[in-house]
Amino acid sequence: MELNLSGQFFGEKSDEVALQNEVQKMIVIGGGPAGLSAALYGARAALEPLVFTGPDMGGQAASTTTIENYPGFPEGVGGAEISKLFHKQAERFGAKFMYDGVTAVDLSRRPFTVTTEDGLFQTETMILATGASPNHLHVPGEDRLMNNGVSYCATCDGWFFQDKHVVVVGGGDSAFEEGILLTHYASQVDIVHRRDAFRAGAILLNRAQKNEKIQFVYSSVVEEIIGEEKVEAVRLRNVKTGEKTVHPADGVFIFIGHTPNTQLFAGQVEMDSQGYVVVDKLMQTSVPGVFAAGEAADPHFRQVATSVGMGAGAAIQATRFLESQAIGD
Ligand code: NAP
Repeated sequence: MELNLSGQFFGEKSDEVALQNEVQKMIVIGGGPAGLSAALYGARAALEPLVFTGPDMGGQAASTTTIENYPGFPEGVGGAEISKLFHKQAERFGAKFMYDGVTAVDLSRRPFTVTTEDGLFQTETMILATGASPNHLHVPGEDRLMNNGVSYCATCDGWFFQDKHVVVVGGGDSAFEEGILLTHYASQVDIVHRRDAFRAGAILLNRAQKNEKIQFVYSSVVEEIIGEEKVEAVRLRNVKTGEKTVHPADGVFIFIGHTPNTQLFAGQVEMDSQGYVVVDKLMQTSVPGVFAAGEAADPHFRQVATSVGMGAGAAIQATRFLESQAIGD
C-alpha cells in the first residue's frame, strides 16, 4: 500500500492483481512532466492510463526550486508544486498511478509487457518517459564522498552549505542556475569550467557575473575530490598550462549534462549514439504503438514546457493509433 501525492492510498495488492489481469490501453513509464502530461491526455481520451512513476514522482522538475519559464505562472512556480498539480489533474480524469520500479519491458509484440517487482502488466500502447539523470565526473573521491559534500542537486542539498565555500562544475545553464541558487546559502561559489567560454545563456551569465559571491575558474578540470569523511578540497588542473592546484571547498556540485534513462529499452527501440530514444515528429518510436516523450527522447530542449508538449503529443498519437487499430479490426 502506498501514499500518493494527493494523500489517498492506492496500490493495494488486489488492485494490482486486477490490473495484471486486464490488457491496458496505455501504460506510461515515467512520472516527470512528460509522463504526467501523457497521463493527462491519455486519461482525457478515456484510456485510463496506468502510470509507473518509480519512487521519484515528478522527475527532475520536482527537485527544482522555482520554475520561472513555464507559461501561465508569471511569478514562477515551485517544481514540487507543479508536479503535484500535474499529478492531480491526470488523476482527476482517471489515470492510475503505481510507484513500482519497472525492471523490464518487452516491446517485441503487442500487447507489450511491463515487468515490475510485483508482477507483469500488459498494454496495447506504451509511452516511454523515463527522463535523464545527471552525468558524473568519474574522478577519485566522487563516489566515496557523494552525499558528504558531493551533490548533483543544489535545490536538494544547498541548504546544508550555509556560509560554506562550494565549487560548481560545468559551464552550461544548469551550472549557472544552480550556482546562483547556491549563493542563497553559501558564502562563496566558484564555477569551475573546462573552457574559457561558457555555454550558459546571456541572462544567467549576466546574473552570475553581477553576483558578488560567484567567482569563475576558467580552463580547469577537477581531477580529484579530496576529503576523509567529507569534501575538503578539489584538485584542479589547468588544461592550458597543466598546472595543478588544490582548491579548498566544503562542497562540490556537478552539472555537466545528463544521460537518458533508457537502458530498459536498449535493443528494443531505435536510439541515437547517446542513448536517446529516436522519435519522429509524431513522437513515434521505431516500434508501432510505442511512443516516447521528454528527456528520454530529447537531448536539445530539456524544458518542462517542451517535455509537457511531447507528452501530450505522444498520448494524442497513441490515441490515434488505437483508433486506427480499431478501424482495422
Ligand atoms: P549542457 O548545456 O550540456 O552543459 C554541460 C556543461 O558541462 C558544458 O559547459 C560542458 O562543457 C560541461 N561538461 C560536460 N562534460 C564535462 C566533463 N566531463 N568535465 C567538465 N565539464 C564538462 O548541460 P546543462 O547545463 O545541464 O543544460 C542542458 C540543457 O538544458 C540545455 O539545453 C540548457 O539550455 C537547458 N537548461 C535550461 C535552463 C533554463 O533555461 N533555465 C536551466 C537548465 C538547463 P563544454 O561547454 O566545454 O561542452
